[in-house]
Amino acid sequence: MIKENLENVKNNIKKAALKVGRDEKEITLIAVSKTYPVSAIEELVSLGHMHFGENKVQELMSKIPDVTKDVSWHLIGHLQTNKVKYVVGNVKLIHSVDSVKLAKEIDKQSAKQNIVTDILLEVNIANEESKFGFTKEEVYNVLEELNALSNIKVKGLMTVAPYVLDPESNRPIFRELYNLSVDIRKQKLDNISIEILSMGMSNDYEVAIEEGSNMIRVGTALFGKRNYL
Ligand SMILES: *Cc1c(COP(=O)(O)O)cnc(C)c1O
Repeated sequence: MIKENLENVKNNIKKAALKVGRDEKEITLIAVSKTYPVSAIEELVSLGHMHFGENKVQELMSKIPDVTKDVSWHLIGHLQTNKVKYVVGNVKLIHSVDSVKLAKEIDKQSAKQNIVTDILLEVNIANEESKFGFTKEEVYNVLEELNALSNIKVKGLMTVAPYVLDPESNRPIFRELYNLSVDIRKQKLDNISIEILSMGMSNDYEVAIEEGSNMIRVGTALFGKRNYL
């Protein structure tokens, strides 16, 4: 099941990339393993897959020691400042930085460990009340301040688009995040290098790829339907 799903998703990535003249190799697939057991993660690892995403710190930390291989972990869900100390040093990328306060805490904890932590800024493009993230305007206003923090590096932008039946309706959101990334890149701040666009989930990753995504976060299309406990 998981093997076929992975093949399917990879095929779709390839098709979407080809459609707009992109190379599929530019696109990193993050397998979102929240709520799924370590055995499901191991199955993907055995197929050569190495990038996994979790949205809760507790679940992430409980899985890390149980997964044998040296996989790359991505924190994709809202992070509270008091939990930053657990995460720093254990993940490849924090996708969900949604405040300056949080960025400062990641910087502080990273300095303690003498490392630089790569982060993405989460942008609430659709301005949904229920969602975390900076508004577009806020992103511009915080760049200088984030640029001054030497133990974090802003590597790109992330957005969680609304759940929609027709993925086409999220196209304008993906396009807006892409345009924002192009605009920020022009500002040439040393500590900010916008290389990553984390956008697209099971329901809409093909459209996201067509609009420039190079990191997609896919759960159910790989593992099957989630059972929330
Ligand atoms: C759960 C989750 C995903 C994956 O969702 P699917 O619809 O299962 O692909 C992606 N991004 C974030 C932030 C999530 O919380």
